[in-house]
Amino acid sequence: MQRIFYFLLFLALGWACNTPAADDVEAISSTEHQDQPLQINNPIIKDQFTADPAALVYNDTVFLYAGHDEAETDFHFYKMNEWLVFSSTDMVNWQRYPVPLKVADFEWSSGDAWAAEVIEKDGKFYWYVTVSHATIEGKAIGVAVADSPTGPFKDALGKALISNDMTKATDISWDDIDPTVFIDDNGQAYLFWGNTVCYYAKLKDNMIELDGPIETIELPNFTEAPWIHKRGDWYYLSYAYQFPEKTAYAMSRSITGPWEFKGIINELAGNCNTNHQAIIEYKGTPYFIYHTGGIQPFGGSFRRSVCIDYLYYNADSTLKRVVMTSEGIQK
Ligand code: CA
Repeated sequence: MQRIFYFLLFLALGWACNTPAADDVEAISSTEHQDQPLQINNPIIKDQFTADPAALVYNDTVFLYAGHDEAETDFHFYKMNEWLVFSSTDMVNWQRYPVPLKVADFEWSSGDAWAAEVIEKDGKFYWYVTVSHATIEGKAIGVAVADSPTGPFKDALGKALISNDMTKATDISWDDIDPTVFIDDNGQAYLFWGNTVCYYAKLKDNMIELDGPIETIELPNFTEAPWIHKRGDWYYLSYAYQFPEKTAYAMSRSITGPWEFKGIINELAGNCNTNHQAIIEYKGTPYFIYHTGGIQPFGGSFRRSVCIDYLYYNADSTLKRVVMTSEGIQK
């Protein structure tokens, strides 16, 4: 009799567990919705080539700054004469603005609108750029300023902030490229840059003069494209690693190091030999912004396009590897 009771109880429990509750029905229908194909959102700009992304979150808006690849074919070298700016409030739809800054705006420069980054301080926007110097052999870093994140920007200094002759840790003439700028919690601003060697220096309060010596950082296989960001108590220095480039990163408890190498976060960007990242957090979500040769059939190393994917952190604050997708960010 007892056995029959337990058998009936077993059947009753089994029936209860297999009967869908109202909540489950709802969940099934939303799963079916997710099975629909996602929108293809990468590259984010499809009607012109964009490269070397940098991004700034200001007034609840993301401003995306990029170089403009203008090479007629992908078999030549970089042809870059101006920088571009776009904005978004959902990371999916992007608004374009008039060209805010050109190489020609730096009278001391001879060309090459290479990688750059914008930062805001006290209501002014400072744009640190890579260009070729007209009279000092090699690449150089200039700085432009504006009252609005979309410009117009003008040369803030009338000369290079960094020229090739100021840094001698390597003999190459293109070691002074790819500036990234960061303002620490105490208000002190730092400029990081480099190719082959990673340099950094303090900036004065005016943001257009160095404040102290130029230092170097030891990083494994550092190629170029440093980017500094901070999350919680951790500083992150991500950079282009080897060539063709992957993206790797190091972490530190201080902006001045010591930096501990943590490994690779992004793999080779397909048909593009460079890999240039910006890392931001917007409305609580971390994003990894980079470029590929993803506009087909004409994209490549000199005809690049900016893409965005989600970035994830591990519980110990290290970064999970980025998964580059065609779908990108979904609304
Ligand atoms: Ca140099």
